[in-house]
Amino acid sequence: MKTQEFIALEEHFGAHNYHPLDVVITRGDGVWVYDVDGKKYLDCLSAYSAVNQGHVHPKILAALVEQAGKITLTSRAFRNDQLPLFYKELSDLTGYEMSLPMNSGAEAVETALKIARKWAYQVKKVPRHLAEIITCAGNFHGRTITTISFSTEPLYRDDFGPFTPGFITVPYGDASAISKAITPNTAAVLLEPIQGEGGVIIPPEGYLKQVAEICRKNNVLFIADEIQTGLGRTGKLFAAQHENVHPDVTIIGKALAGGFYPVSAVLSDQEVLGLFTPGEHGSTFGGNPLAAAIARAAMKVIVDEDLVQRAAEMGEYFIEQLSEIPSPHVKEVRGKGLLIGVELNEKAGGARRFCEYLQERGILAKETHERVIRFAPPLVIDKETIDWALPLIRDVLNIE
Ligand SMILES: *Cc1c(COP(=O)(O)O)cnc(C)c1O
Repeated sequence: MKTQEFIALEEHFGAHNYHPLDVVITRGDGVWVYDVDGKKYLDCLSAYSAVNQGHVHPKILAALVEQAGKITLTSRAFRNDQLPLFYKELSDLTGYEMSLPMNSGAEAVETALKIARKWAYQVKKVPRHLAEIITCAGNFHGRTITTISFSTEPLYRDDFGPFTPGFITVPYGDASAISKAITPNTAAVLLEPIQGEGGVIIPPEGYLKQVAEICRKNNVLFIADEIQTGLGRTGKLFAAQHENVHPDVTIIGKALAGGFYPVSAVLSDQEVLGLFTPGEHGSTFGGNPLAAAIARAAMKVIVDEDLVQRAAEMGEYFIEQLSEIPSPHVKEVRGKGLLIGVELNEKAGGARRFCEYLQERGILAKETHERVIRFAPPLVIDKETIDWALPLIRDVLNIE
């Protein structure tokens, strides 16, 4: 079948909740993907940072195949011999005492919100059902009813109310706004250390440290959504570590299973996650042995291949080189590690057409928030590949 036939089928039979580039990918290897016509592309999206380890990493593939031949799903009604090892290795890697595994990122966010509310009632003694959670404008925390309830993007929410109460939104990057929004009923502050979907928005330096301090002083939980920024993407294991901050709760997903499987988790300590009792929360697939085995292998790749350091080095080089590209369209190049945004001028006519031109030249990137092109290749990228891409990007940033 040809590209156009696949696209026609998809458009006819599938809901149109995405506007993908018209490239039909059939396989991938490391930083490269191949379409059904055999054309090769550098993947600069990494499935929204889910494939930090590179496409079809052989070690993660081997773990998947091995585990799939043994047992894939037990449900949590019984124990399995992968989940305990996953818990232990995740704790060793992240420094958190405990974790709770889910599947999608949005589910893990919901899980963190539930435990924050329970903590507020049980520990902080907030009157039942009055807990408030502070969130930030421009956030992205998923697509469930609750996570869109505190979205500020009209497209994400306009037709989907009524919304979940209990959330307060303040401007992103302004610690004093959080201070002012705190009441005796505040359970938690939830934010992304860098807003990925919001357009690679990096808050002012010191922000995360101030927020952590405000939370500590006011007996409020600090929840960091590191689903996109975590696991090496920004050149630290967690983006909050750029400011030496260790939030009370960190949410991860995406790269936790290297793109092979949806695995997410809420990380925290006994004091918070220990509050869940049997029956209060769960997931049929959460913590299944296949997910646990894959995630164990995916975490091991991050460590063994030193991907955090690699993201720091390659990211610094990529950002520096992108910043030096002369272009009438570019307003700003910003990023941390390999989470990079190129913001275009208002007159550039939107980022989409630039992504289409990049596609023609063999680079897959996706616009975010109309005017930002995100460059977030797998962390296994090397300097030669960046050097290959730069002249092509320069060409595209200089089209009419
Ligand atoms: C992708 C993402 C989510 C949602 O994850 P899903 O797996 O798509 O549900 C939540 N928060 C952030 C910061 C994300 O980037």
